[in-house]
Amino acid sequence: MRKPKVIILGAGYGGIITSKELETILNKGEAEVTLINKHDYHYISTQLHKTSAGTAVDEKVALHIADLLKKNVVNFKKGIVDHVDFVNKKVMLENNEIYEYDYLLIALGFDVDTFGIPGVEENAFKIRSFRSSKAIQQHIQEQFNKYNEDGDLSRLTFIVAGAGFTGIEMVGELIDQLPKLCKKYEIPLENTRIVNVEASDSILPFFDQKLIDFTTSYLKKNRVEVVTSTKIVECNKEAVILDNGYQVPARTLIWSGGVRANRLLERWNLQLVKGRIPVDQYLRVKTFEDVFCVGDAAYFEVEENTPLPATAQVAIQQAQVCSSNLVAAIRGNALKPFIYHHKGTVASIGSRAAVGNVFGVKLTGRLASLMKQVIEARYLLVLGGPGLLLKEMFNVKFKKS
Ligand code: FAD
Ligand code: NAD
Repeated sequence: MRKPKVIILGAGYGGIITSKELETILNKGEAEVTLINKHDYHYISTQLHKTSAGTAVDEKVALHIADLLKKNVVNFKKGIVDHVDFVNKKVMLENNEIYEYDYLLIALGFDVDTFGIPGVEENAFKIRSFRSSKAIQQHIQEQFNKYNEDGDLSRLTFIVAGAGFTGIEMVGELIDQLPKLCKKYEIPLENTRIVNVEASDSILPFFDQKLIDFTTSYLKKNRVEVVTSTKIVECNKEAVILDNGYQVPARTLIWSGGVRANRLLERWNLQLVKGRIPVDQYLRVKTFEDVFCVGDAAYFEVEENTPLPATAQVAIQQAQVCSSNLVAAIRGNALKPFIYHHKGTVASIGSRAAVGNVFGVKLTGRLASLMKQVIEARYLLVLGGPGLLLKEMFNVKFKKS
């Protein structure tokens, strides 16, 4: 009998966890599963701010997919997805290769939203992927190098757009990294600036006030210039322009003004809501029952006009239910509705501090930072068991010594 073909698009949180779960749940030879991803590594998106600043070793953020999928259940194909023909059930790659499916999972994640602000798309740096984050890291180092040649202080001004979780986590890594770069390039720290511009009247809008207050004072203590109630309205290679008319001379704008679903989805003739694919309670795309979607690409409505947020926590939980629903669909069994369990949120501010709300308990400082490390370690355990966790710990220690 012909084996059902399952195709998974994207090896971010949603795609890789679904693949790992299928390795366990599927019986040998029960289905032909193919995971298609742009790169042959899975990058841990929640660590990309560290790669951007240069505070994490690459091996800790980008993990080879071949090392994660070892059970011969999921075939991996490195390729760039271009189009899906939902009627004839075919996936087309940019290199014109075609893959047929019986069941499809779309887990193509997020794109950074720049809202059409002039100059941002062309000149700002985005924390989007491992590659785009490495580009930020290289650009920052280059600015230090060039400053020693031309003494242009705008090279040492680092502007972070947005003080949501990504913006604050990025600022935190810069707080840790700039002193190291100053030491390396023999430049006084006072010559550097970190400016965090936020359109709302507060950093971390909608977070608990106690956590906002802790973060504000930590940033101030570390010389970060926090500018709230101010929008970035333009940027060019040499300056960032604010809505109060002020121009900040700077060669680096790191844009963390918000995310949206992968823009590719707009080309697929699907009915999108806020750029995301609406899914039913079983995580199936509403118009195609054999197509599932999870993570940042999916619009899972919890209340009218309110989807679940674009977080790794949601993507992981959805992947765990989606994998069992894929197997249930193959076996002709009943599907399970997805119910989200919010466990909390912890945002790092560099390696020495964090703020969080975990199961309703507010945490700040080193304790929150420790909790963040526990969350990161737990993900490695889910992904690759104690072996992966130990390997990653060993790698880091080995590199540091
Ligand atoms: P992604 O992780 O974006 O994965 C999508 C995958 O699809 C990628 O591997 C990509 O290469 C691949 N892909 C894209 N296009 C194509 C194509 N055309 N062809 C083939 N492959 C393609 N959330 C939390 O819950 N906690 C946190 O602490 C947290 N921290 C964050 C920190 C930062 C700096 C950022 C940017 C985000 C953070 N998030 C956090 C959000 C979280 O990273 C996302 O919600 C999560 O990555 C979504 O997972 P996903 O599987 O939907 O997509
Ligand atoms: P966000 O939308 O949460 O925050 C973007 C911020 O940028 C907003 O505060 C907005 O007011 C500001 N902004 C937008 N345009 C601006 C402009 N022109 N000038 C100045 N400020 C502007 O986006 P994010 O922080 O990238 O987060 C994306 C998703 O990832 C969210 O779901 C978030 O929860 C998740 N995330 C979670 C964590 C964590 O849990 N630790 C970390 C990072 C991201």
